[in-house]
Amino acid sequence: MEISFTEDKNARSDFAGSLAGQAETAVASDTSKADDTKKTVSAVAGNVKTKYYGIFDSHAHYDDAKFDGDRDEMIEYVHSCGVTGIVNIGCTYDSMKLSESLAQKYPYVYFSAGLHPSEADVCGDFIHVREVLCSYLSHPKAVALGEIGLDYHYDTPLPEKQKILFEWQMQIASETGKPVIIHDRDAHGDTMEIIRKYRGVKGVLHSFSGSPEMAKELIDLGYYISFSGVLTFKNARKLPEVASMVPDDRMLIETDCPYLAPHPKRGERNNSSLLTFVVDKLAELRGVSAEKIIELTGENAENFFQYTKLSSLG
Ligand SMILES: [Zn+2]
Repeated sequence: MEISFTEDKNARSDFAGSLAGQAETAVASDTSKADDTKKTVSAVAGNVKTKYYGIFDSHAHYDDAKFDGDRDEMIEYVHSCGVTGIVNIGCTYDSMKLSESLAQKYPYVYFSAGLHPSEADVCGDFIHVREVLCSYLSHPKAVALGEIGLDYHYDTPLPEKQKILFEWQMQIASETGKPVIIHDRDAHGDTMEIIRKYRGVKGVLHSFSGSPEMAKELIDLGYYISFSGVLTFKNARKLPEVASMVPDDRMLIETDCPYLAPHPKRGERNNSSLLTFVVDKLAELRGVSAEKIIELTGENAENFFQYTKLSSLG
């Protein structure tokens, strides 16, 4: 979960991307039936523009109110563009429920369940948090615990409360064996301190914003680093350096949609098809092809989330 930078544009305006040509074809032939969506994807895969087929979006918020007008259409649209996996993040009690229902509905959507630091004042006690999380995490498509962590950008909830909620959930992660998705905003020092305390927990720093030194320590601890549209921003600072040094087997990509749309779509409502811009940037920084980035991040998602490909859940 991130803050929005600007107002929404027209719902269809962010449909234009590097995939615009094939997207129009796909949308035109799209229907509401999952089987037909699959056929559309096969058609795209067999098309000339196969470069971006197989993208795995490791962090999305399609349950967000900004998708209320066209949620299903958008999820089917990005799939028709070649996005073959999405983890929808359940970061409040309400969003866990919605995320679970999206995962239930779409074979290529998975979900996570966790409480964002913004929930620290309203989450209830440890017994309650644990009971709710364990119940969601027992679902076959629940692939991670998150997003959890610390956010010191705003004055509330107080850091002490955020840290307690973060630690409760790290404890639940170590009990359940689920990997964690960590949100760290303006809180690098405290975040690392808590991560270091839970050695057995495997995780990813979502939309990583730290230094190359911090990335190196996380990698040594067994963590993954996830890159969002921020990598393409002109003020990305140390991120390009981080992106060029992360080992092949530790990087993931994500939209954090509807937030963090990449350049040149910055400020617009984000969606998984726009990950092509992040893929291209990573490819450029690492001196490999876009196809290679998609292949590696797809394999890494499979290893990290340990998901079982399920065609449908009745
Ligand atoms: Zn998020």
